[in-house]
Amino acid sequence: MDQFDVVVIGSGPGGYISAIRCAQLGFKVAIVEKYNSLGGTCLNVGCIPSKALLDSSEHYFNAVHHFEKHGIKIKDIKPDIKQMIERKRQVVKENSDGVAYLMKKNKITVFNGIGSFVSPQQIKVNSEKSTQELSAKYFIIATGSKPSSLPGIEIDKKQIITSTEALELETIPKHLIVIGGGVIGLELGSVFARLGSKVSVIEYMDRIIPTMDGALSKELQRLLKKNLGFEFYLQHKVLSAIKKSKEVIVTAQNKNAENIELKGDYVLVAVGRRPYTENLGLENAGVKLDEKGRIVVNDLLQTTQPHIYAIGDVVRGPMLAHKAEEEGVFVAEVIAGQKPHINYLLIPGVVYTWPEVASVGYTEEQLKEQNIPYKVGQFPFKASGRAKASMDTDGFIKVLAHKTTDEILGVHMIAPRAADLIAEAVVAMEYKATAEDIGRICHPHPTFSEAFKEACLDAFEKRPLNF
Ligand code: FAD
Ligand code: NAD
Repeated sequence: MDQFDVVVIGSGPGGYISAIRCAQLGFKVAIVEKYNSLGGTCLNVGCIPSKALLDSSEHYFNAVHHFEKHGIKIKDIKPDIKQMIERKRQVVKENSDGVAYLMKKNKITVFNGIGSFVSPQQIKVNSEKSTQELSAKYFIIATGSKPSSLPGIEIDKKQIITSTEALELETIPKHLIVIGGGVIGLELGSVFARLGSKVSVIEYMDRIIPTMDGALSKELQRLLKKNLGFEFYLQHKVLSAIKKSKEVIVTAQNKNAENIELKGDYVLVAVGRRPYTENLGLENAGVKLDEKGRIVVNDLLQTTQPHIYAIGDVVRGPMLAHKAEEEGVFVAEVIAGQKPHINYLLIPGVVYTWPEVASVGYTEEQLKEQNIPYKVGQFPFKASGRAKASMDTDGFIKVLAHKTTDEILGVHMIAPRAADLIAEAVVAMEYKATAEDIGRICHPHPTFSEAFKEACLDAFEKRPLNF
């Protein structure tokens, strides 16, 4: 039997980053991954491939709709979805090979196969070829999540699909019906709408991206309608999706209990993801799950067995790659006896539509609910010189600051490159900056980042300089 200090199960952003940090701290480390390609959901069927297709489709959309205005004439522009998928596969492979290289570099032993606990101190790794047994002083479970579905819907993986199949689709749907107006639905909906599909989104709540600040939901819905022709059915509960010859018929009920029927050639089910704990043998290790099927952990991310930790999508909290990574580093340092810290309030969330949407800290709804006094500052991109130059004038940055102390409590933006811009807000909030602090810091001109400074000046004393 092979013996290690730490065995990590799952090689997603949580698992592989944790393995690297454990190795840096001097532990003898193994990582176990069910698939041959390392990197988990994020690298193989999540963050990276979706962004690859978002970029390709955005280039196509710009070529068709914006190039002429920029003074670039191209004839006969056509999307080649097969090539887009091929490029995406290359991007995934490069990233996954990169993780394999990092495992080697850090002297981490990789086992391919399904890891399952035999006892609290031991796991077996089953692959097609062999079964191996590993023991360790500590285990880190980082097995991630899988797409959820709905009662009344059978995912056939051909026309009724999840994000995993959507990322491999080699035909452009004529009419894509998306169930769920959350992150996946809007990102992948954008990919196909840009390539020419009609996209209809059916959302159960009264707004899309319902966990983000309400102003973002409203503006994103307006822009997706205006720019990409999205159709939205809010406050609709999907009852069924049934295949009839080449079509899929989706039935949903509105708030007045009336049924509507939509017909499309593809249905993307994007109603969230569930923690993945199947075949882990948790019962043999004495590791408990909560009512939502997540592994129960304490503040140190220890499971009900103190030497077994769990991180990422398989535990509570937002299902985000960077959250999984932070937790991966955190547990490695806890095991090493250090005192790390994660500020869960400051984990940013991003939606990679165009413009992008990004958020950190409290939403306006949360501040109201918690009776925290606040003031609002806002700056629209139509007043930004940089945005005018690049024809990206949609969107705004909204800053929420404490009414009396002026400390920044939340930043919400729908903006060109919001995914990158939000990092400044995270740093500012991590250091407890006030709106005045940011308003007095020099930002390069012309940049999109100036809009953050301006929104802060607006929050501070209602004195933006360029609006
Ligand atoms: P995962 O990445 O899910 O990795 C878990 C790994 O464990 C998998 O490789 C799995 O095969 C393996 N495993 C499971 N059970 C076993 C077992 N018993 N033995 C061995 N191996 C096992 N997040 C972002 O932050 N930004 C984004 O832009 C983004 N885009 C996304 C787009 C899509 C379409 C999807 C689906 C998700 C996206 N996410 C994004 C979410 C992100 O992918 C997850 O939050 C992240 O991958 C979670 O990391 P993890 O390490 O917890 O688990
Ligand atoms: P989500 O939670 O973002 O959105 C699911 C949506 O489906 C919600 O708006 C919900 O109200 C709606 N819904 C639920 N039941 C419904 C029903 N019966 N009928 C109609 N609508 C219904 O989940 P997702 O989009 O599937 O993404 C899964 C996870 O992956 C998310 O937690 C997300 O954080 C992560 N992810 C992140 C990114 C990113 O960071 N850019 C991208 C993709 C995925």
